[in-house]
Amino acid sequence: VEFEHCGFPSLLSGNLKKAGYEAPTPVQMQMVPVGLTGRDVIASADTGSGKTIAFLLPVVVRALEVRPLGLILTPTRELAIQIERQAKELVMGIPNMRTALLVGGMPLPPQLHRLKSSIKIVIATPGRLIEILKQKALKLDKVKILVVDEVDTMLKMGFQQQVLEVLEHVTKEHQTLLASATIPAGTEELAARLVHDPVRIAI
Ligand code: AMP
Repeated sequence: VEFEHCGFPSLLSGNLKKAGYEAPTPVQMQMVPVGLTGRDVIASADTGSGKTIAFLLPVVVRALEVRPLGLILTPTRELAIQIERQAKELVMGIPNMRTALLVGGMPLPPQLHRLKSSIKIVIATPGRLIEILKQKALKLDKVKILVVDEVDTMLKMGFQQQVLEVLEHVTKEHQTLLASATIPAGTEELAARLVHDPVRIAI
């Protein structure tokens, strides 16, 4: 299989090629088609597996539809920066596909300013996102696809309540993609509150 035969819109196909992504990795091969059906997914996949592109492709394809907003939650600023970099690679040259990076440890005003224009994909860490939600600078009622990345790390860092608080702002009708290196009992418990009838993918 090669990405160019996957039926993606041509700008997206071109961007995959430009980024040097010719063929999907195993996690992409499993997660992308399921993600595109709209089903919830729990993927056990580690950094290095290509999991970021695996969840970004369904996010981008859905964000290309007129209304949906994609929200990606990740535990650390470094991960968020990497995710935004890969998201920008995928949407390069596609009109109206702006991303916003909402993370702690960086000044808030530029992040608030960015939200004044129309954003299609938000990449955020939980604490900063909640701060911004409290200021009513962003609404999540149009989020149609939610990604929670590194669920196990979220728990280790004590972000469980914050993730659940974010979830309350997201419209009921949404798809959820979860990625976690491992899925121990605690992770499973949080996952159960985030997904509905998930397809499980293990790499
Ligand atoms: P991740 O597992 O998301 O941290 O990705 C690990 C690295 O693999 C990143 O640097 C990606 O740019 C790269 N990558 C992701 N998908 C592919 C692909 N299909 N072909 C080649 N490299 C990829």
